[in-house]
Amino acid sequence: MRPARALIDLAALRHNYRLARELGGARALAVVKADAYGHGAVRCARALEAEADGFAVACIEEALELREAGIAAPILLLEGFFESAELEPIQRHDLWCVVHSPWQLEAIERTALTRPLTCWLKLDSGMHRVGFAPADYRAAHARLMASGKVARIVAMSHFARADELDCPRVAEQLAQFETATAGLVAEFSLRNSPALLGWPQFFRHGHGDEWLRPGIMLYGATPFERYQEQAAQLRPVMTLESRIIGVRELPAGEPVGYGARFVASRPTRVGVVAMGYADGYPRHAPNGTPVAVDGRPAQLIGRVSMDMLTVDLTDLPQAGLGSRVELWGAQVPASEVAAAAGTIAYQLFCNVRRVARSWLD
Ligand SMILES: *Cc1c(COP(=O)(O)O)cnc(C)c1O
Repeated sequence: MRPARALIDLAALRHNYRLARELGGARALAVVKADAYGHGAVRCARALEAEADGFAVACIEEALELREAGIAAPILLLEGFFESAELEPIQRHDLWCVVHSPWQLEAIERTALTRPLTCWLKLDSGMHRVGFAPADYRAAHARLMASGKVARIVAMSHFARADELDCPRVAEQLAQFETATAGLVAEFSLRNSPALLGWPQFFRHGHGDEWLRPGIMLYGATPFERYQEQAAQLRPVMTLESRIIGVRELPAGEPVGYGARFVASRPTRVGVVAMGYADGYPRHAPNGTPVAVDGRPAQLIGRVSMDMLTVDLTDLPQAGLGSRVELWGAQVPASEVAAAAGTIAYQLFCNVRRVARSWLD
């Protein structure tokens, strides 16, 4: 059996969820969209079911996967519905839905419903992706109330730059939100992982009934580019690992792999690892990207190919055929691999495929 695999530590997932709750002191929907950022939505939801206040996914297809697996907790659709035909299954499966656009308001007004909806009404406080503009927000809220089809409204918005720890736009978005929603609703939801970890000063007093929306932090990766105290308490959930399946001794001057991107500058011992971009390892990872071989730090050399990649074993004489290689996990932070490859841990996790996944509880 090919040794490439992803181990998912569900105890670490629960640790990270508890940390989110401790930081926020409020209710938290665990964001498990995109198959729980590659960690397995059903397995992760089951592991959190006893303590999570609910879950958030991108679309109804993802929500139904959880319902079919027996998850009875609240589930929020972060993009709401894409066509009005989804309103019927939304009611039937008791899903909560984001309302972000005027056409969705119209669809709710036009559709006959048997049960009242729980809507999360989205304000565009500065992200400028979806949501009602501040000037239109009160009218949208009034229309939802007047439709007679909504039992409960949660005011929500999303930060664009909370991962930049000194960005003034965060306070501006918060002020927009407070102005647009003043006196309107009790329940509200603003904070994703970077806002929750990095911006406690904004949320200390009297903010009523808040729903947190942690995603990446549940999976143990920092959303920040630099060290951050709270993020340092997270435990990585996924270990992506494989083994050395071949070893080569190359004299100085010889290249390794496609395009000869790496050329040995000294006699070099090359380890071939069963892991490639078809498994989700980033093809753009440069020479020098960190890996760990039998628990010791080592470096990627040469271009990543579809099924294999190569590492430098010159300084690790004990390592050889069969040695365990960690691509990311407790020893090699996914965020460091991501930074080296010009991406973010979110994308690395979501891209994991083909490898066998196993869940440890
Ligand atoms: C994905 C998502 C989140 C979670 O974001 P993280 O940065 O992973 O914590 C929160 N809210 C919304 C609207 C999202 O789409």
